[in-house]
Amino acid sequence: MYEVNKICEQGKPLSLKTDGHLRVVFIGVGSAFGKRRRQSNMLVIQGDHHVLIDCGTQGPLALNDIGLSVQDVSCYLPTHSHADHIGGFEEIMLMNRYGQPPRQPKLIVLRDYQDLLWSKSLSGGAEYCEAAQGRSLQLTDFFNIIRPNPIEAYGRKCWVIQYGPIELLITRTRHFPDSALNVDESQWCSGVFINKKVWISGDTMFDWEYPERFSEEAEVMFHDCQLFQGGVHASYQELMTLPKEVRQKMYLYHFGDNWDAPETWVKNTDKFTGDPLQDGFLGWTQQQMAYDFY
Ligand SMILES: [Zn+2]
Repeated sequence: MYEVNKICEQGKPLSLKTDGHLRVVFIGVGSAFGKRRRQSNMLVIQGDHHVLIDCGTQGPLALNDIGLSVQDVSCYLPTHSHADHIGGFEEIMLMNRYGQPPRQPKLIVLRDYQDLLWSKSLSGGAEYCEAAQGRSLQLTDFFNIIRPNPIEAYGRKCWVIQYGPIELLITRTRHFPDSALNVDESQWCSGVFINKKVWISGDTMFDWEYPERFSEEAEVMFHDCQLFQGGVHASYQELMTLPKEVRQKMYLYHFGDNWDAPETWVKNTDKFTGDPLQDGFLGWTQQQMAYDFY
């Protein structure tokens, strides 16, 4: 069973510990360029362990909203290289290396993606910080790397990491370019299945097989959702084609700033209302609320 609970009551910062149960907090639920609900990055907390899945350009601000900073988070998991997911990583790296006391947070990352993440995205702002010492820095100067193990699960190639009590099954998604016909043709992008209980799609085009398959085991699912057709995310319209039993377990996130004005995105010909509760989903994912699983 699970509950949705308030956090930061009386202005207190969010605790990065729980009494042993699994807690998921979306520090943002909006789309890449949304301005109203920050970007879709989420904290997974259980016992003494926590992981921040993605930290986009607004990630440090979203942490600040709940009384935290990039120096409080001790473990990160980047799902892919779009800026709404890794745009906050320069702040993570520089604040932790040069802040007092210096820290080296953990980074859960696959070998292949580590090289891309560093060489194509993060190295530009961080590599030459210590040029005077005569050495270019590497990702491993900023993070302690944790490597997930490959496994075959749910009919696809996956990776798994047990981080304290938190089990993260990492699945590859078909996100971009939009011409990619399968995950192998796509750039690296991933979703996660947490403790075989909570499924988070990650950024993905509509890939009905995934939600249908994971819905058998998941207690709750979170699916990314865009409010128009085309592009590199699953659209509301496409998600409406999922069976009722799957939608009944599903919250929607990664939505544009006009989510609450369905008259701007639901067409007369659509056979849905634009209110996810009425349309058979669990609703829009709530920002800055705790989803507590017992
Ligand atoms: Zn993306």
